[in-house]
Amino acid sequence: MPTTWNQIVGHEWAVQLLAGAIQHNRVGQSYLITGPEQVGKTTLARLFAQALTCAEQYSVSSKQSPGSRLQPPCGQCRACALIAADRHPDVRLVKPEVSGRGKLTLKIEHIRELLQDLNLKAYEARYKIAILTRFDAATTGAANAFLKTLEEPPANVILLLTALDADALLPTISSRCRTIALRPLSPHLIEQSLTSRWRVPESEAHLLAHLADGRLGWAVRAAAHTAVLEARETRLDWLRQAVDGDRVARFALADKLSRKPEELPAILQTWLSWWRDLTLLTQGAARNGAGQNGTAVTNIDRQVELTNLARVWTAAQTLTSLKQTNLALWQLERNANGRLVLENLFLTYPRTTRER
Ligand SMILES: [Zn+2]
Repeated sequence: MPTTWNQIVGHEWAVQLLAGAIQHNRVGQSYLITGPEQVGKTTLARLFAQALTCAEQYSVSSKQSPGSRLQPPCGQCRACALIAADRHPDVRLVKPEVSGRGKLTLKIEHIRELLQDLNLKAYEARYKIAILTRFDAATTGAANAFLKTLEEPPANVILLLTALDADALLPTISSRCRTIALRPLSPHLIEQSLTSRWRVPESEAHLLAHLADGRLGWAVRAAAHTAVLEARETRLDWLRQAVDGDRVARFALADKLSRKPEELPAILQTWLSWWRDLTLLTQGAARNGAGQNGTAVTNIDRQVELTNLARVWTAAQTLTSLKQTNLALWQLERNANGRLVLENLFLTYPRTTRER
């Protein structure tokens, strides 16, 4: 598929804004694209970089009348191809490092190296562009090192930052950028895109669209890699073992899972979605009609199981489990001991069968 603006699904307003800025010669020097993980932030930034760099933009617009102008980026030229592969000499992509537990850190060294490069003249393009993904992972030192460049970027340098949330950045950073806040997509739009653009079978697209939490990028990746859904199955099976099991079984499970420290946050995220569904169901969201067509519940393939458990547990029990799972995730992010976190968490989970 050629890399052009229409690759963006559901953020058409953002495309219009950026394409319009190029068309009317009103491109800003720094942008901040925010939104949940895999919603399309980096894709949008890369396309903007392509649109700014694309050779077609110059050659075609100079030869033809504006009405017949090709809408850049073309996705075919050398510049577009190099940017798509993150190999263009004038477009730098700076990503945070991933540590053992999946924690992201953007270090001051990365920023220093980038700044040196930005001070050099562009090799072949009109602009020098830096895409800094997940700037919310920047250390205070890295953010401060970047601040001066953000305040006064060298001429023809364009800075594109992405972050989960503008509030996660220093106000001195976010206030100097034009912010583009991408919203999660509806399950309907994700399902439609999966079937029409990526040729995903309907039933799979339906499930993935609900699990995606508004993130098309996640759904596309999950459709391409069966391991994603398999991992989710396994994680839900572990949760089922926990709530079915007695104290001894739960402690054994805590011990087993604590040996996968890098996977623990993802495990808890999956459990969180399960408890969220149960809380919705026990609080009667389904009875009020929201869950009738499966729109409220995320884990739609587990709907029967969830509905049955919603009859066993009270709303207070499922809400407590939801909150405690969230707390456990928070503790893990702060480097708490995985086994202890899980043991404590399991003490708060209700059981599917009565204690004998
Ligand atoms: Zn191009």
